[in-house]
Amino acid sequence: MQKEDSRYTDRLRASRTLRESGEMNFCQQLNRPTGNDLHTLIVCVDCFKIRKALTEVEPMLTLTYEYKLIPDNQQIEAIEHTLDVCRSVWNYALRERKDWLNSRKSPVNACSLEQEYIIPADIPNPNYHNQAKALTEAKKANQRLKSVNAQVLQQVLRTLDRAFVDMQSKKLGFPRFKNKYRMRSYVYPQMLKDCVKGNQIKLPQLGWVKFRKSRDIPDGFELKQARIVRRASGYFLMLSMQLDVNIPDVDFQGHSLGIDLGLDKFLATSDGELVERPRFLNQLHRKLKLLQRRLKNKQKGSNNRHKLNQKIARLHQKISETRKDWHFKLAHHLCDQAQSIFVEDIDFRSWGRGMLSKQCLDAAFGQFATILKWVGWKRDVFVGEVDKNYTSQICPNCGLYTGKKTLDVREHNCPECGYKTHRDIAAAQVIRNRGIEANALGHSVLENACGDGLTGALPSQESVKQEILNASLRIPRHSVA
Ligand SMILES: [Zn+2]
Repeated sequence: MQKEDSRYTDRLRASRTLRESGEMNFCQQLNRPTGNDLHTLIVCVDCFKIRKALTEVEPMLTLTYEYKLIPDNQQIEAIEHTLDVCRSVWNYALRERKDWLNSRKSPVNACSLEQEYIIPADIPNPNYHNQAKALTEAKKANQRLKSVNAQVLQQVLRTLDRAFVDMQSKKLGFPRFKNKYRMRSYVYPQMLKDCVKGNQIKLPQLGWVKFRKSRDIPDGFELKQARIVRRASGYFLMLSMQLDVNIPDVDFQGHSLGIDLGLDKFLATSDGELVERPRFLNQLHRKLKLLQRRLKNKQKGSNNRHKLNQKIARLHQKISETRKDWHFKLAHHLCDQAQSIFVEDIDFRSWGRGMLSKQCLDAAFGQFATILKWVGWKRDVFVGEVDKNYTSQICPNCGLYTGKKTLDVREHNCPECGYKTHRDIAAAQVIRNRGIEANALGHSVLENACGDGLTGALPSQESVKQEILNASLRIPRHSVA
């Protein structure tokens, strides 16, 4: 851990120096940039003269660190009160939006049997701006609203607004009304000056709150937001911080690794490693089932039901933390082995719906993909996505289309070249080859692939193009149903 962290700060420093030395506004006469804006310099490799300076848009690096918060009883009360008021604001604003939508459902030329046009036609669709304005008005008269930081409440409206936008753009579900267990977090969108001292943080209305400083806030970062989250095991603090540097993306380089994710084995790498799928849920499932069965005997809203629910929530949290930890360790393990990693571009949400949905959700492939990208970025490993189609139906050695394998066929056995390997490893090798082919253009130096008939070191651009052309011809897309 220590080792990577120092590598990471080295990269930060490198890009910051680039920024300080490369001062802005490119001057044609002096042939160098001037001024203070942020630029990326394009330098001629032969004469090292600056050819072009590009102005960067929002060169911000944002990190979020999580800490365990240790509030005293008074502060817990204040947090719970804030959550409660946030919940009222959320529910009120959501009701307002829902009512407006319902009132507009009836067709223009007919009177609905179910709905009446109860909201006048000239009332606009509630959005963030008019809801925030109404909130400011309401605060003047309402003591309860007044007792909570104005920005925190505005942030609730903003979240609701985003929920509606995401519903349409990302096809997510309709926002829900929240009961007191469902409202779990709120944000302070602005931080006070010098708000962190030792292991204490100063938050609006709460004052100095202790937290467990499990890691230091990195140098130079400016604190932007604090989110308070209530979980089964207590209260947590999510600190968002920003630094105005631009870290160049990692380039395709070095040894490449293809990864095939699956249910039989969690993943197979093109180097022949198979990783078993840990049964996170299975191990604790029996315990969970027992608790959940007990739940139905408890009266709704009773204290005992609440206690049991807490127990279940703690178990769920334990499962998810174990899983996340394992994902991080696996991602680091993969980054130890290669400088470029390729995965398939799968939308894992669809896997979560099928027959094996429980197993898919337990494995949390989507979370692993996100973590792998993050760890790769942090450790200078290029993580790329390739086309997911037919990866398990092509021979990685000769490119022959071998047809669909049923699930019981565990081995890839090529009738053309006789190449034999585990089916998941074969798929991983196809993914790696695709990744290399897609990223090789523009890179004159390629790794020397050993063994399984990969395109090795390529002498010229021409032959790279030829290679890609050949590769695409080898995949008979039209013959696949
Ligand atoms: Zn073959």
